[in-house]
Amino acid sequence: MNRVCIAFGSNIGDRYGAVSDAFKLIEENRMKILFKSEVYETEPYGYTDQPTFINGALLVETELSCREVLTRLLAIEKDLGRVRKFKWGPRIIDLDIIFYNQEIYDEEDLKVPHPDMQNRMFVLRPLNDICPKYVHPILKKSVEEMLKELNKL
Ligand code: ATP
Ligand code: CA
Ligand code: CA
Repeated sequence: MNRVCIAFGSNIGDRYGAVSDAFKLIEENRMKILFKSEVYETEPYGYTDQPTFINGALLVETELSCREVLTRLLAIEKDLGRVRKFKWGPRIIDLDIIFYNQEIYDEEDLKVPHPDMQNRMFVLRPLNDICPKYVHPILKKSVEEMLKELNKL
């Protein structure tokens, strides 16, 4: 069995509804949700002229490969009506793979651990709820430590 941390976010429409629909679809796609973080209201990152987000993270257990998880998460986003307009633009749902076991993927369309996670409070805070001791396989720091460092900046 594989353990996967998934970060979720939404900033348009019925945000809480979209997140709860995403949880249901994730479970229907052979990913068992073991833990859910708190859901946080956060200010937009990157392109800031857009509505407030809700963000959180899940720890799931699955037999799916990392590539299969990606394919299914993208299909779930599409199912929930996500339209890609521009990078970091508003979205009804965003599902990112943050960690897949301790594995590293560096492909054009699949980068794990998520390459910018250590710089994002809205990722680290919920991750800290569900897996504070998880060690980043490249940076060799725990979620707890990464959060502490980002808080100091
Ligand atoms: P960011 O990745 O910086 O958070 P984003 O989530 O807004 O930006 P998207 O438009 O949702 O970016 O995704 C673009 C592509 O990123 C996806 O089609 C997917 O192939 C690729 N991708 C690469 N690594 C990952 C990952 N770890 N999780 C999800 N998608 C990924
Ligand atoms: Ca994202
Ligand atoms: Ca994404």
